[in-house]
Amino acid sequence: MALANEHYLKLKAGYLFPEIGRRVRAFAEANPQAKVIRLGIGDVTRALPQAILKAFHEAVDELGVEKSFMGYGPEQGYDFLIDTIIEKSYKPLGVSLKTSEIFISDGSKCDTANILDIFSLENTVAIGDPVYPVYNDTNVMIGRTGEADEKGYYKGLVYMPCTEANGFFPAYPSQKVDIIYLCFPNNPTGAVATKEQLKGWVDYALANDSIIFFDAAYEAFITDPAIPHSIYEIEGAKKCAIEFRSFSKTAGFTGVRCALTVVPGELLAKTRDGKTVELNKLWNRRQTTKFNGVSYPVQKAAAAVYSDEGWRQTKEIIDYYMENARIIREGLSAAGVTVFGGVNAPYIWLKTPGGISSWDFFDKLLTGCNVVGTPGSGFGPSGEGYFRLSAFGNRENVIEAVERIRKNLKQG
Ligand SMILES: *Cc1c(COP(=O)(O)O)cnc(C)c1O
Repeated sequence: MALANEHYLKLKAGYLFPEIGRRVRAFAEANPQAKVIRLGIGDVTRALPQAILKAFHEAVDELGVEKSFMGYGPEQGYDFLIDTIIEKSYKPLGVSLKTSEIFISDGSKCDTANILDIFSLENTVAIGDPVYPVYNDTNVMIGRTGEADEKGYYKGLVYMPCTEANGFFPAYPSQKVDIIYLCFPNNPTGAVATKEQLKGWVDYALANDSIIFFDAAYEAFITDPAIPHSIYEIEGAKKCAIEFRSFSKTAGFTGVRCALTVVPGELLAKTRDGKTVELNKLWNRRQTTKFNGVSYPVQKAAAAVYSDEGWRQTKEIIDYYMENARIIREGLSAAGVTVFGGVNAPYIWLKTPGGISSWDFFDKLLTGCNVVGTPGSGFGPSGEGYFRLSAFGNRENVIEAVERIRKNLKQG
């Protein structure tokens, strides 16, 4: 018999979302009349904007004609999309990037996982707590950790608690770390990083020869002009950071699949005998070997996000979600709930009323209000006592969910 990768056995079986699904199904079966509103999983709900759909359709039609048929494209992505991103998304921030520094992919989830391929297992890695579970679990899978302790911390990873006390912003680790994952606007806390805060991390990384994995999946939800959208807005970041962006939440591509990773040419790592290595070259080698590119119609659709019409329609949907966030934040706040996030970010991170556990609050909301959210403890030990609501629902449901929660809390 072949040997299995036993690192997978260290993972906790009850992954957050399957457990939520199990409890919701059990409740719905026992209460078939209940109208359950889901503000849990971070998936979007609005349909694709017309301008994007049109570009998508037209590109599909091109494939049906021999003259314009496209087979394999460049593994790194088509220049038409990369150059559009550089012009429309990075240049306005004062960030200049070369075509060779952007890699198009089918998702940031896979990119944040796959990037580990080009780094030695000997690196010390720091992640937030609470955190997007992918960062934690992919480090376990690749074999960087030992077993988890009773709290859920894996041996070998450095956890950076993000709590009310530090404004949900991680402090610098007390030990030297080589790789740091940062995600702003944050999933799950909805926290954002100011320019000064990000500069602190860039300076830290430069001083300590560390690399930052910057997950900017939610940058499009930033409305405050003072908040940076890209880590490359900070001087020196091209020497210490890889940035991940996605069309998933920005433009409703969670099902369509398109994302990008920026690996600057200046970004270096070293070999054990002290030679320097360009990470851009390693990632290029990795992608050209293990990946065959995103489909042509998807990349055409992604490029259409940045057309005048496409961006106007995309922005309308973002504004719609952010109005949902406002309704949730203000509604619950008025009901006496302590809420964080929901400004410049589509997640509301609330403190469970009465200090009950995250899962107890989950059950209370499910059975008492028929509203589904996400227990904070599922994102890490420091998420205990918190709860995440997403602003990606439709307006009617969001209003009704907030009303139900308010009524329920009044009754105690
Ligand atoms: C949703 C999300 C992503 C995007 O993942 P895709 O694979 O591009 O859909 C990346 N990072 C975080 C933190 C997310 O919440």
